[in-house]
Amino acid sequence: MDEHLMSFQHLPTSEIYRVTTSTPPSFQQKRSLAAFERACKLMPGGVNSPARAFGAVGGKPLFIERASGPYLYDLDGNRLIDYIGSWGPMILGHAHPAVIEAIVKAAERGTSYGAPTEAESELAELVVRCVPSIEKLRLVNSGTEATMSAIRLARGATGRDKIIKFAGNYHGHVDSLLVSAGSAAASLGVPDSPGVTEGTSRDTIVLEYNDVDALRAAFDQNGAELAGLILEPVVGNMGCVPPQPGFLEAARELCTKHGSVLIFDEVMTGFRVSLGGAQERFGITPDLTTMGKIVGGGLPLGLYGGRADLMDQVIPTGKVYQAGTLSGNPLATAAGAATLRCLLDESPYQHLEQLGQQLAAGLGQAASRAGIAHRVQRVGSMLTLFFCDQPVHGWQQADTCDRARFGRYFWGLIERGVYMPCSQFEALFISAAHTPQMIEQTIEAAEQVLATGVA
Ligand SMILES: *Cc1c(COP(=O)(O)O)cnc(C)c1O
Repeated sequence: MDEHLMSFQHLPTSEIYRVTTSTPPSFQQKRSLAAFERACKLMPGGVNSPARAFGAVGGKPLFIERASGPYLYDLDGNRLIDYIGSWGPMILGHAHPAVIEAIVKAAERGTSYGAPTEAESELAELVVRCVPSIEKLRLVNSGTEATMSAIRLARGATGRDKIIKFAGNYHGHVDSLLVSAGSAAASLGVPDSPGVTEGTSRDTIVLEYNDVDALRAAFDQNGAELAGLILEPVVGNMGCVPPQPGFLEAARELCTKHGSVLIFDEVMTGFRVSLGGAQERFGITPDLTTMGKIVGGGLPLGLYGGRADLMDQVIPTGKVYQAGTLSGNPLATAAGAATLRCLLDESPYQHLEQLGQQLAAGLGQAASRAGIAHRVQRVGSMLTLFFCDQPVHGWQQADTCDRARFGRYFWGLIERGVYMPCSQFEALFISAAHTPQMIEQTIEAAEQVLATGVA
């Protein structure tokens, strides 16, 4: 069990959540509260994925009725500028007409066949075109499935057992990768989940992100037993933490030298930090890449892919088993391909970069004026305002953030129509549908919340 993750204490709701006196009177939560009560009787915590329960910020979740462009609309009729974007996928904004049309057209032809379709190759060709290190790929149904399968392939291909991962990196709820995981696992203080056997986590070596010396030492010690190394090339799941110069280079060099498989988990960064993902942005080529989120256009779809000689070891060409009843689903491939086509045609990345710069600068100024210790970290349209007094390079620094302040900041913004990720340890996402005016509105709301002592 990992000490730094265990040290997280659940903050009592009352300490964080208070409706502020300067609350715009229009903010209501009556229907969401009723919906939450109903859901809690039926599902653990009323949700189907833990971060949605707002456990890290106190209070109770808003239930969403619909979404359009940059906006979410909840059951009580509140309109919110959305900076979660379904935790990453909605880079074009919600209900983009081209994506919806593609889904509707696909649905009219049937929702699943359990047989090959041309749509799968269409999506695969788009992915390979954007991400050249992916020569061949396999479609799955989630990011978790993608990382689980990539790890199995790395082990199968090398005949070795051990895997390196980094504290605060999240790779889905794969047993062997739930050790010192980020995202909701970090926010909610799940250290190493019950139900994960000791034997399973014994083959996982956990290191501090951006620590090149520790990485070299781990390879020196375990090189011959290391099947692979998995990392988020820009971390989103402990808040936004960019790789320091030399870190990804060292990972590449060491994997090559020791015959281990370098896996970039680009489930979040793929098509987000640039069309070719973090590997394009930072110029490092992994052996395998995992993707999800954007590549499914808001439907359940993930993939793993990379060097053809590795991918050919997957069944039925090879012996590494992996399968899926709904894999390559026609609705999901249609949504994914429509999204990638829009990204290729419209190339929103410069727009996203500008909005990212604007928001990062504005949030930083708002916190500075209020005299609040902070760091803003950003890569493209992924960013985090950390309430801490040092740069965050890894979990050791992330862990020092003022979580209670983040909770107050979060609710202050909700009450002003801005929906931020509900944890200090998540990156926010800007979509192509956001405008400079909306960013300005968001900065003004943050200024109010931070300057008036709400947060
Ligand atoms: C979201 C995420 C996952 C898990 O994807 P799911 O679709 O939620 O299973 C894996 N890795 C990274 C980097 C992620 O951000």
